[in-house]
Amino acid sequence: SLARSQGQEFAVYALGQDESHLRQIRIANRLQEAIGEDVFHLLYQPKFSIGERRINGAEALIRWDDPELGQVFPDEFITIAEQTGIISKLSEWVVARVIEDQVNLRKAGIDIAISVNLSGLDVLQDGFVDGILEDVQSAGLPVDSVVLEVTETAMMADADSARRNMERVEKLGMRISIDDYGTGFSSLAQLRSLPVRELKLDRSLVDTIDEELGDRLIVRSTIDMAHHLGLEVVAEGVETAAILALLRDMHCDVIQGYLLAKPMTVNALGELLEQESRNTAHITETLDHHA
Ligand code: C2E
Ligand code: MG
Ligand code: MG
Ligand code: MG
Repeated sequence: SLARSQGQEFAVYALGQDESHLRQIRIANRLQEAIGEDVFHLLYQPKFSIGERRINGAEALIRWDDPELGQVFPDEFITIAEQTGIISKLSEWVVARVIEDQVNLRKAGIDIAISVNLSGLDVLQDGFVDGILEDVQSAGLPVDSVVLEVTETAMMADADSARRNMERVEKLGMRISIDDYGTGFSSLAQLRSLPVRELKLDRSLVDTIDEELGDRLIVRSTIDMAHHLGLEVVAEGVETAAILALLRDMHCDVIQGYLLAKPMTVNALGELLEQESRNTAHITETLDHHA
């Protein structure tokens, strides 16, 4: 009967809730120890400049392969890391690894900017972003070789202290990017006063522009306004040629997504960039065919 099947569904749902709660507790417990172990690594997802027809950056994305928990994705553990106060240690680990990889890429003659995702809590903590800038400089890297990605919601949460922290490093040449734009409730007018150079349109906004006229209009006008404010626009989550073509027509500057490249190891990134410089990269071909 209907009632019975509803009851069963409810039971399954309740069980699912319990299981996910249990996993969250296990993740919280493991995070404390895992930070000192060798269980994290970074993958890099290329960012492709439409105008320059080349990869002009890459975003570092953390991965956690745990012997006990299996693969844990950032969407699962970043929030828990924030709640348990471990996020700044994790961010420090990410930044240190990115700097190390950047130094090696440059030794190999590869010059691209690498973006790091920061938590809103990192940006609120006085001295944290200044520390990143100092570390980048002590490693002998140009200040703009590391870009900081901060989510829209994090920037609006405590705009004043976050703004002050970001302004200092931005004045010294570090680039700051607004991540996941379109998921919060801020307007470009509010974001205008922040020291940012780049706006990343969230995948949820981008992936329907070929179907929904309304979404297409929103993305088009957001790109136009961002350009008027002097911001470079990145579209994330580009999965189809149709969406790429629309974004190019809308003068979107940079695209990122599975259509062009999935997150990859630093070695694979280095190889891809070498192929690109020899004009044999599959990624350039994809873009030429579709855009
Ligand atoms: P994000 O910064 O917005 O990163 C984009 C996410 O979308 C990544 O997921 C990426 O793998 C995925 N993605 C890229 N292209 C496509 C596509 O074409 N289709 C689909 N379906 N997905 C695509 P990931 O790596 O699981 O990261 C999720 C989120 O976790 C990130 O969102 C970011 O907010 C956070 N995160 C990742 N690494 C770090 C980190 O090192 N530190 C901090 N604080 N947060 C991180
Ligand atoms: Mg990001
Ligand atoms: Mg994003
Ligand atoms: Mg996201």
